[in-house]
Amino acid sequence: DDARDRILVASRLARLTHPDRIIDALSGLRKLDLARYYAKAAPLLLKHLRGRPVAFVRAPTGIAGGTFFQRHPGGHAMPGVNPLPQHLYPGHPPLMEIATLEGIMACVQMNVVEFHTWNVSRTAIGRPDRMVFDLDPGRGVQWGQVCQAADMVRAFLAEFGLTSWLKTSGGRGLHIIVPLIDRHGLDIVSVLSRGMAQRLARTAPGVFAAQSGDRHRVGRVFADYLRNGQAATTVAAWSARARPGLGVSVPVAWDEVSALRGGDHWSVATAGTRLNVGDTPWRDYAPQSLDKALKAFGPALRM
Ligand code: ATP
Ligand code: MN
Ligand code: MN
Repeated sequence: DDARDRILVASRLARLTHPDRIIDALSGLRKLDLARYYAKAAPLLLKHLRGRPVAFVRAPTGIAGGTFFQRHPGGHAMPGVNPLPQHLYPGHPPLMEIATLEGIMACVQMNVVEFHTWNVSRTAIGRPDRMVFDLDPGRGVQWGQVCQAADMVRAFLAEFGLTSWLKTSGGRGLHIIVPLIDRHGLDIVSVLSRGMAQRLARTAPGVFAAQSGDRHRVGRVFADYLRNGQAATTVAAWSARARPGLGVSVPVAWDEVSALRGGDHWSVATAGTRLNVGDTPWRDYAPQSLDKALKAFGPALRM
């Protein structure tokens, strides 16, 4: 409840170690500023974290001092960061889940800057409940071309009866999300997304690159389908980014894109008022069937 949450935040902020450590030289933001941002963003962020395996990008001495990616519980106790049953990911240490404000505040204390999630819920680890296209602009690509590429992906997906939702990455690009009925296996979703990205590159080779890698991408956008593989993760909406300026990944409506300056339009310093808009651009977010797409791509999908 609200009063309990406020007390928890106040006590965690008061006990935060190294509150004045500058974690990003460009913005001058301190660990305490990031902690305050996450305390405010927590109700929104939690909706994107709850029920899914989560991974962290941590920056123990600030983002210039190096970051590391963490997929499993570490040595330190982090209350509210819960290990998931080991059988979910055989042959690996347990995955983690965050479902409470307490978990977010524990992460902030441990210098977590980014929260990434899997495309699956903990109850259906082999069956994705979303497909992700990560639009990565190559060198020399103007923001207008990223917007155009995003809209082409949206229209392309619509041909298969699929509605898609959009967020800024907080970095250089955009993320397009297709929520799925979690009925299809990971391999199907993964191969289908690759087929779709390749079809886009064949249809509009001036806009889309067929392959990742800087060389292939010059002047073009790579519709990165690799976010749909086993154990792949994508930064969660409302997560900050461990990059100069501390961008934030924010859900946006399709007609807002052209008004943005880039994937880092919002940052920890400026996302405050946007928190009031929250997830309303995603209010109709609903799982969909891939049947039509699978029928259309069927023959092309045999591996
Ligand atoms: P941009 O818009 O700038 O491309 P992005 O979030 O799409 O931002 P990256 O920050 O390059 O792209 O992230 C690459 C992906 O790989 C992330 O979604 C993350 O889940 C994963 N990742 C990042 N760092 C590591 C790592 N060290 N090990 C494994 N996976 C990682
Ligand atoms: Mn990207
Ligand atoms: Mn990518």
